[in-house]
Amino acid sequence: MIDDVLVIGAGIVGAACARTFAAAGLQVTVVERGAAAGGTSAAGEGNLLLSDKQPGAELVLAQYSATLWPDTVADLTAELPGTFPSVEFEQKGGLVVATTEPGAQPLLDFAARQSDSGVDARPISTAEALVLEPDLNPAITAAVHYPEDSQVQPTIAAEALLASARVRGVRVITNTRVTGPILSASGDLVGVQTSKGDLHAGHVVIAAGPWSGEVAAALGVNLPVKPRRGMVLVTTRMPHRVFHKVYDADYVGATLSSDAALQTSSVVESTASGTVLIGSSRQQVGFDNRFDVHVLAEIAAKALRLFPFLAGMSVMRAYGGFRPFMPDHMPLIGADPRLPGLWHATGHEGAGIGLALGTADIITALMTGDQPPIDPTPYSPARDSLAPFLDSDDAARLSDASAATADDTADQAAVSGGAA
Ligand SMILES: Cc1cc2nc3c(=O)[nH]c(=O)nc-3n(C[C@H](O)[C@H](O)[C@H](O)COP(=O)(O)OP(=O)(O)OC[C@H]3O[C@@H](n4cnc5c(N)ncnc54)[C@H](O)[C@@H]3O)c2cc1C
Repeated sequence: MIDDVLVIGAGIVGAACARTFAAAGLQVTVVERGAAAGGTSAAGEGNLLLSDKQPGAELVLAQYSATLWPDTVADLTAELPGTFPSVEFEQKGGLVVATTEPGAQPLLDFAARQSDSGVDARPISTAEALVLEPDLNPAITAAVHYPEDSQVQPTIAAEALLASARVRGVRVITNTRVTGPILSASGDLVGVQTSKGDLHAGHVVIAAGPWSGEVAAALGVNLPVKPRRGMVLVTTRMPHRVFHKVYDADYVGATLSSDAALQTSSVVESTASGTVLIGSSRQQVGFDNRFDVHVLAEIAAKALRLFPFLAGMSVMRAYGGFRPFMPDHMPLIGADPRLPGLWHATGHEGAGIGLALGTADIITALMTGDQPPIDPTPYSPARDSLAPFLDSDDAARLSDASAATADDTADQAAVSGGAA
């Protein structure tokens, strides 16, 4: 059997892509080395944020994805049996606060730039912030309300997208690890070797989250996706006292930084079940998944600066995962010009839940020759900003391949008389 598309990885990105590929009429198989939705998509929070994105291509993708979530949730609810758990989509809004005098103006400036890019970012007074969040520490120095921020339960969202993909005919193979490429005589990628035999397909999409670098290496290309560890504390259930996603403006600096050393910032939110999630940390320690009590203590201490009442609450558990970090802070979406047949949908770092739906639409349009809903160039695997993070041979391969692609495009435009 030869599929049109083979998706490697059954996290939220692979699930979303498989679903839209199938909706476009493609025959699709998803291959997953463990259980579906068992990777990073089950190890993070489910925020769908605009508030933490600076103006630029990632924000554009987040804004586009945000427009898709309400209808997608409605479609999933209609398509899946009533017994399927809710994805807990909540358009709750975000509240970002500064806790120091020097932090106030940068937050307001950041919000003003986001506003210019179409984000609903509303600077509010402390009194107004306390109306939104009565238990917030009143000793804040600035606050911005982001009504467009929302939330899902990420594991259930990934499972629901995958279940919907199955309804559309997608085959999902679990407990099967991709180990190597199958190449045609001309060197194109036409399938993969797995721990349970060969799988053939016209296109192979790496959606393996933080393991995408390893999978790409197994298929013969270098990809600078690295794991970035994050940890979250979970309280016991309580009556709702946190109503928005509330975080310290330091969080934005942490998401935009490439620093490998530990960074923590306060991020506090309730879940539908009544627990409070307290995050988060960022640290590049490879795939070391041991809990570090110092990290957890730092996260807890910072959360108390936002919500002092949490001092009297019990923590029930902690969990953590590995964000798929890209050194140029941009997801990778599109065909890899170094290896015909290979595609990427990965590198979403701490925003893959929010960005999964937009990613799926873009890659599906690129694969089927449709007009992508937004300009895909900034996410292209052939972009120049990746070259410094590849070894020189690989960077040269990428640059040659992208120059050849540009020449082809120019030739085609000349033949068709296009001069856009
Ligand atoms: C603490 C923390 C908090 C976060 N909070 C948020 C948030 O609030 N909002 C948000 O949008 N994002 C958040 N994220 C980021 C988000 O979780 C990720 O960006 C997203 O889950 C990535 O999804 P994925 O499908 O690319 O990867 P994954 O979910 O990791 O899926 C990849 C899959 O590939 C499989 N795989 C790997 N190797 C192979 C192989 N050789 N063969 C077959 N299969 C393979 C893995 O088993 C895995 O299931 C957070 C992450 C962390 C760690």
